[in-house]
Amino acid sequence: MSEQNIAKNLKSIQQRIKEACESCGRDPEEVLLVAVSKTKPNEDILEAVQAGQLHFGENRMKDLEDKMLEIANPDISWHFIGNIQTNKIKYIAERVNWIHSVEKAKYLKEIEKRAGKANRVVNALIQVNISDEQQKGGCKPGDLAGILEKAQNYEHVKVKGLMGMARFVDDPEEVRSEFKLLKELFDSHQEYNKGSVELKHLSMGMTNDMEVAIEEGATMVRVGTAIFGERNYG
Ligand SMILES: *Cc1c(COP(=O)(O)O)cnc(C)c1O
Repeated sequence: MSEQNIAKNLKSIQQRIKEACESCGRDPEEVLLVAVSKTKPNEDILEAVQAGQLHFGENRMKDLEDKMLEIANPDISWHFIGNIQTNKIKYIAERVNWIHSVEKAKYLKEIEKRAGKANRVVNALIQVNISDEQQKGGCKPGDLAGILEKAQNYEHVKVKGLMGMARFVDDPEEVRSEFKLLKELFDSHQEYNKGSVELKHLSMGMTNDMEVAIEEGATMVRVGTAIFGERNYG
């Protein structure tokens, strides 16, 4: 994709964020754009950086490690948004800034161990399965409290909020109830804010449904296709 296009696409996404915020009386500063660069080459990421984008999301642990090491730009914040495999946590816990997709307490324990060895702190979001689809990741809403309780005592992983993925549908209005559910869980679990748990972020909304997600309270949107174009895989 040409340089101009990525810069232009980023501008139009920022405009969509602004308009969605205006439509519901929110401050656009409250919504962070995470550019999902999965499957895309480093040149595309560098073009986005040129245009001022500094938050990037990847969904494969090894790819993320490789891109971080190759690009080596300390101004970039890297977000891991994909399925976690325990034996690969070392690839990311030593260097990423955010992990959006923690769905089990045992992953937090491993991140704590690995980030601790590297003497750093990783921000985590607990992914909740809001679409009730088997193939989507995330804990059950009923498991959230137990995970948050365990997270309170960690030092190298801080739970900063929740993440969810809605069903893929043509009309984003159809998934408004899924975003509402995540916001309700976010509100009803504020009582677990203690120690390393401080729920203040809601990561929800992608290319097709970001406006609805913002209206329902998203503070991070994860957008790939609308910035970098269609993907061939991933
Ligand atoms: C790929 C991906 C996105 C971005 O999806 P687009 O529809 O391309 O914007 C967001 N979140 C997660 C978890 C993803 O895997």
